[in-house]
Amino acid sequence: MKDSLKHQGMRNKLVQTLESKGIKDKRVLAAIANIPRHLFMDSSFEDHAYQDKAFPIAADQTISQPYTVAFQTELLEVAPGDKILEIGTGSGYQSAVLLEIGALVYTIERQHELFKKTSRFLPKLGYKPKRMIFGDGYKGLEEEAPFHGIIVTAGAPFVPKPLLSQLKIGGKLVIPVGDEVQVMTRFVRKSATEFEKTEYGDFRFVPMLEDKN
Ligand code: SAH
Repeated sequence: MKDSLKHQGMRNKLVQTLESKGIKDKRVLAAIANIPRHLFMDSSFEDHAYQDKAFPIAADQTISQPYTVAFQTELLEVAPGDKILEIGTGSGYQSAVLLEIGALVYTIERQHELFKKTSRFLPKLGYKPKRMIFGDGYKGLEEEAPFHGIIVTAGAPFVPKPLLSQLKIGGKLVIPVGDEVQVMTRFVRKSATEFEKTEYGDFRFVPMLEDKN
């Protein structure tokens, strides 16, 4: 597994592209500048790794477009030490962004093949989530709640109730909601019962699927 100056140069260009598209959070941009995204994808896509595009990974899934990763992470407003739950580990790239920022990461994946592959791969790069779980993200992770932030990286047909109830007061859920096209949606928990909801435009994700186990 190799990183190089050539890759670093391409990453710097990608960061400029993301800034030109409106990403401002310095922590997010610094994370993307540091992470060797080409190592998260099949080597046949290596030349495209720093384009602002989604690409296929194993098990018919995708590594999200860098802009989408940056946009969602910016909406989460992550600070070092925050406890963050991610639904949809996939390639592990989004987890790596959260870990670069200094978050304590809990991440759930429902496809066993991806879970196995990414559980081995991330620590090899030095990225160590608190826990990587093979399971169903619709349930969240009650035993580790509450979280400062929950990020869903698959298209959710509806907002799962457990994800809202596992937020701290002031905590944020960032979730793309919809079937064919998803509306990026953020919920901020204001009290035990109140949530402030804001919508941020259309995105396309692979679907968040019900548990098949
Ligand atoms: N965050 C990933 C994006 C992967 S795509 C990355 O950075 O690469 C979305 C992932 O969500 C897929 O791996 C898919 O298998 C997973 N997924 C779909 N439904 C899920 C569910 N109910 N619980 C957990 N993971 C789910």
